Amino acid sequence: MPAAAPNAFTVDLEGWYQSLRPDPDEVPLAAQRDGIREGVDRLLELCGRRGVKATWFTLGSVAELMPAELRAIAGAGHEVASHGYGHDDVDLLGAEGFAADLAKAEGLIEGACGAKPRGYRSPKWSAGRAGAWYFDALRQRGYAYDSSLNPVPLLGARGMRHDVHRVRGVAELPPTAVRTLVGGLPCGGSVGLRNLTHRVIARRVAALNAAGEPAMFWVHPWELAQKRLAGRMPLATRLVCNVARVDLAARLDRLFGEFPFGTAQAALDARVARGPLPEVETPAFREARA
Ligand SMILES: [Zn+2]
Repeated sequence: MPAAAPNAFTVDLEGWYQSLRPDPDEVPLAAQRDGIREGVDRLLELCGRRGVKATWFTLGSVAELMPAELRAIAGAGHEVASHGYGHDDVDLLGAEGFAADLAKAEGLIEGACGAKPRGYRSPKWSAGRAGAWYFDALRQRGYAYDSSLNPVPLLGARGMRHDVHRVRGVAELPPTAVRTLVGGLPCGGSVGLRNLTHRVIARRVAALNAAGEPAMFWVHPWELAQKRLAGRMPLATRLVCNVARVDLAARLDRLFGEFPFGTAQAALDARVARGPLPEVETPAFREARA
């Protein structure tokens, strides 16, 4: 019997200030190196023990600062993908700025670990505020997939899809959300993964898999290194970081025991093997901020 098609387990490889948006000048990336390293070590250990290969959406600035860590990740058989260079919103970069940021990140990631990224995730889900040029740039640079269109109204736009689809030649693997009466809520990552019950999350994964769709999970190293980091964070950030009912490592360990997880590329390959992806010419982009 063939192995069950995997769900995607992904890591956004960045520092905590980048996730939570305090003033970047306040805590330079180099000062967050220990926290990133601790989270990476925990994730590598957990994935290694469960035989899960993850996709690491890596910032070019992290590849530049921590090439040895990136080599260890690639050396353990994980997929290394791109999260841009400096965690800038792609809609604010604009078409030309985005193309330059994409190329810069790619060069640094490839230089550090030898792997050319084939997948991309936009910082802060900002692709949902960009335009068709975003997918054209990815396609022109040879990217096979994107994972940025968040079907949660606050993070993406109304009308964004929950299933894997194709936009202007690039496959889109949306982050997993649960449907509610008020719209989608994050489920495969962020506050949802840390606060919903295991039962709610497992039912969503099972429902997607029953429909032939992979779930898309995402975590950040800081979510697994909170104790070390908490003392260094401003109070407001600490509150956001620590709004968690559960031990995230234990939660992931349980999910890995119940469902197959693998790289985004493996999840996409398995999905494409089941049939063609729905084509969307122009998704429901959210209006750019003024
Ligand atoms: Zn990010």
